[in-house]
Amino acid sequence: MAYEKEKQVAIEAVRQAAKLCEAVRLEMVPEAIEKQDKSPVTVADYGSQAIICRALAAAFPQDAVVGEEDAATLSEPALAPVLASVTAQVNRVIAGATDNEVLSWINHGNGEVTSRYWTLDPIDGTKGFLRGDQYAIALALVVDGDLKVGVLGCPFLSFDGEEPGLMFVAVRGEGTVVVPLAGGTPKPIHVANATDAERLRFVESVESGHGDQAQQKAVAAAAGIIAPSIRMDSQAKYAAVAAGQAALYLRLPSPKTPDYREKIWDHAAGTLVVQEAGGKVTDMHGNPLDFAKSARLEHNRGVVVSNGAIHDEVLKALQ
Ligand code: AMP
Ligand code: MG
Repeated sequence: MAYEKEKQVAIEAVRQAAKLCEAVRLEMVPEAIEKQDKSPVTVADYGSQAIICRALAAAFPQDAVVGEEDAATLSEPALAPVLASVTAQVNRVIAGATDNEVLSWINHGNGEVTSRYWTLDPIDGTKGFLRGDQYAIALALVVDGDLKVGVLGCPFLSFDGEEPGLMFVAVRGEGTVVVPLAGGTPKPIHVANATDAERLRFVESVESGHGDQAQQKAVAAAAGIIAPSIRMDSQAKYAAVAAGQAALYLRLPSPKTPDYREKIWDHAAGTLVVQEAGGKVTDMHGNPLDFAKSARLEHNRGVVVSNGAIHDEVLKALQ
């Protein structure tokens, strides 16, 4: 099987990071630090990036990692107590780690897009994490612009009333499986059938500023989905489509931030998880998301994720 070692390393790293995130969420009232772009970051974002980058650097020293966080803010003297807290959390998974090691692991995630790289969102949906809603740890391997491995850890997600905590794993050409984060037997998943009316729901962000909810509602209706949306933070939305819990995920550019460009780490793992479950992912013009060039999806606008069957109808409605 292709990319077997990459898959195993990614699964183990995401599992460890998820443990840290849940520990932080349950034990501390996680405090947000404001980044330069005004978005929040927490001890758990930093700890998760440190753990995953350390594992990738050890197993694949040549591979670049393009991660969401960097250690610049965290290295400031005023944030020494926060750094100490990150190190303490990391130490529960990796005994004996020092502040400097933690900073260097986080900074290992400042790589650039190259012919072979990983992209990491250590906590996707930090706002959801802070609210006690959905969040995800998202890791993907990209080789020559093509997604090869995608792992999504969703510590707070459950379907059909089961224990929360699911991991979605996809390898190009090998399908997508779901496995409990706590361990268990992987089960293949598939997108919803086009005619499965009760599954004809659509998902969108909780944060209204991350999309255009009025347009999303109108486009979903044009594709025959009139049930109210399911609003979720993070790439858990991709997981919902991949597992057949929703037929469509719409993320249309917000009129408030017309110049915003989507980031690769917000879409890479989720895209492969949906594609390998039989679904389709494009931008709002029907173009594939371009993971070959930079951390920003410079030439893509909006994201449309579907079960495949309704994709063309949705794109037509968007025109
Ligand atoms: P979600 O949980 O789906 O709402 O997505 C969370 C992600 O939205 C964050 O990781 C940010 O990178 C991203 N984001 C921030 N601002 C915007 C924006 N104006 N439009 C779309 N996505 C954004
Ligand atoms: Mg994110």
